[in-house]
Amino acid sequence: MTMTRNDDIRVRYAPSPTGKQHIGGARTALFNWAYARRHGGKFLLRIEDTDEGRSTREYETAILEGLAWLGLDWDEGPDIGGPHGPYRQSERYARYTEMAQLLEAKGAAYRCFCTTERLDQLREAQEKNKEKPAYDGKCRDLQPAERATRLAAGEPAVLRFKVPAGATSFTDLIRGEVVFQNKEVDDWVMVRADGTPIYNFAVVCDDVDMRITHVLRGEEHLTNTPKQILLYQALGLAFPTFGHLPLMLGTDGKKLSKRTGDTALQDYRDKGYPKKAIVNFLCLQGWALDGKTEVFGIDELVRNFDPTQVSKAGAVFDLDKFRWLAGEYLRKEPLEELFEHCAPYLVASGRVGREELVTRRAWLLQALALEKDRLHIYSELPERLTWAFAEDRAVVYSEAALINVRKQTDWKGTLSAYLEWLRPKLSDRVAKDALRDATKAWVAERKLKMPALFQPLRCALTGEAGGPDLFDSIELIGAERALVRLETALVRMA
Ligand code: GLU
Repeated sequence: MTMTRNDDIRVRYAPSPTGKQHIGGARTALFNWAYARRHGGKFLLRIEDTDEGRSTREYETAILEGLAWLGLDWDEGPDIGGPHGPYRQSERYARYTEMAQLLEAKGAAYRCFCTTERLDQLREAQEKNKEKPAYDGKCRDLQPAERATRLAAGEPAVLRFKVPAGATSFTDLIRGEVVFQNKEVDDWVMVRADGTPIYNFAVVCDDVDMRITHVLRGEEHLTNTPKQILLYQALGLAFPTFGHLPLMLGTDGKKLSKRTGDTALQDYRDKGYPKKAIVNFLCLQGWALDGKTEVFGIDELVRNFDPTQVSKAGAVFDLDKFRWLAGEYLRKEPLEELFEHCAPYLVASGRVGREELVTRRAWLLQALALEKDRLHIYSELPERLTWAFAEDRAVVYSEAALINVRKQTDWKGTLSAYLEWLRPKLSDRVAKDALRDATKAWVAERKLKMPALFQPLRCALTGEAGGPDLFDSIELIGAERALVRLETALVRMA
């Protein structure tokens, strides 16, 4: 595929800092970033903090940090500035006022004095008549003199956009031709009575000023697009190319919510999903590399991302698949690196003291190596190692492991004979391969089936029905601890 360079492409990600970075927003950011990087364009960050009551600098900082952690970088933004700043809406109010005055002067917007009470009554009446709630245009055609008098008297007034008759259409990169009848679009409020701008208005002012060429954003914004396009038209400007990314759905087919999975990027990070797995999984939310390759990195996204190939259908956020993908990446990590990633969870579990990360490092690395193949996310390690940390006289036997033991005839006899045989053979240094071979020979000589010994042995040593190779496990805990576990099992494992 040929790489087209287009220095003119300017895209943006525009989060509202009113909460943690949503995982869906992270995908929007990633796709915009990839589009800019693929074509040598610019990727901007803009903070949409007009909701002053709910926006905080802490959220803003956390959002930026989260995006950088994912591996994204930006060419202009609130932290680094740029030629079209400021990049926080709260710092751009003077510009919105200017644009509002311009639109009012052009007759594209009008002052509306309707009180909340009147609007409430209007809505109630419309609902009663089964009509779609909409502003009835009472203030649309006020005489200029009346308007001036009421304004001069200090009567509160919002600024509404005067939606023209006709239809609004655009070609969406993902959805193709989209048409909205303007009569479905209300004369919406652009500026509140207190002078603060409303989202659809501020976004257009900013996208114009920041020379945005392509707007890739979530499908939930689709109904905002005709309002925004009408504004561009009122300003006599060409509008950007839009692409609405499919909603991310939970496995229940509904909008992603806490019920079917975590919704914040940070939650997945906190749980120890490898960063590359998060990026890869987000890529798969509505886009595919080639229809078959599921595991691929951010470079492949940049080399291949094409918004016209994004699917229209909702993307199912399948946590099982995410976990599987996490495991694929986790296992690719060199052991030392994986250890660094798992270490905080070992400490947080209370099973390993911070200083033990250093003093018992070799042992912990060995333990990690045993469990690596069964791990998916970093935080699973402490739980997976329950058996290794167990107090030797108090190994907890799982019901599944006990069932496997009870299936063996005279497990106690077998285990106790094996213990007598094993005791003199175990020394400080466990020669696990020789021990494995010798044990198999021991089983064969007695004409036993392997499970007759291995099931009770596994339960006695680990309390679990499955897990790493038993001789690796014995090597990890050492001869002394293994013997204590076997001896106590003869009494406890009934
Ligand atoms: N601030 C909007 C949001 O958080 C961004 C909308 C847009 O991209 O136009 O969804």
